[in-house]
Amino acid sequence: MRLLIVEDDPLLGDGLARGLQAHGFSIDWFTDGPQADSALATSSFDAIVLDLGLPGRDGLHWLSRWRARGERVPVIVLTARDGVTQRIDGLDRGADDYLVKPIQVAELAARLRALLRRSQGRPEPVWQHGPLAYNAAARSALWHGVPVELTPRETALLEVFLAHPQRVLSKSALQDKLFSFDQEIDSNALEVHVHHLRRKIHAKLVRTVRGMGYALGAEADLDDADDSGKAGA
Ligand code: CA
Repeated sequence: MRLLIVEDDPLLGDGLARGLQAHGFSIDWFTDGPQADSALATSSFDAIVLDLGLPGRDGLHWLSRWRARGERVPVIVLTARDGVTQRIDGLDRGADDYLVKPIQVAELAARLRALLRRSQGRPEPVWQHGPLAYNAAARSALWHGVPVELTPRETALLEVFLAHPQRVLSKSALQDKLFSFDQEIDSNALEVHVHHLRRKIHAKLVRTVRGMGYALGAEADLDDADDSGKAGA
């Protein structure tokens, strides 16, 4: 899942970016509102972490502006310890949640996962798809109850597919979700990750939709024994 972080404090911003990356998020971090605003206009994010105390226009200004133009992306605001008025303002202007500084990255990551599950209409903590069970908090995938070894990028890709089980996702939409602005993208990287998911889990886990992109395979197709090499499931 891809996050937009807006935090002007270099130490805190760097800590959040690194910490959330370690929790498996793809991160774009900006130190002021205008940069974040143009990133939001050109790229798709799954959630925003917004500090309210920013240079120039503050976080509340940007939040109101984004909501006014119909941005529905979940937003968590970061506020000062004594900022109760700010917290109320933040929620009333369209924030989904808030966290008081000092921030514990593990707590922020957990709140983000909860927000993302709700925004995707899948609030349950373990996502089941046929014999596959995925736990975003543990970043673990079980196939027929057996752990599957996935790289962080493969895990992130699997999570995107499971979050949108009914949708065909274009290659550019998938790349948008997996890679931040400053990452070099090899044009074959996505195909390679899809190949690995199929090899490690099931050949029909991901369908290729010709000319459009990829989609999660139907649950019924994951139960047959033809591609898993097992006789009679
Ligand atoms: Ca600040």
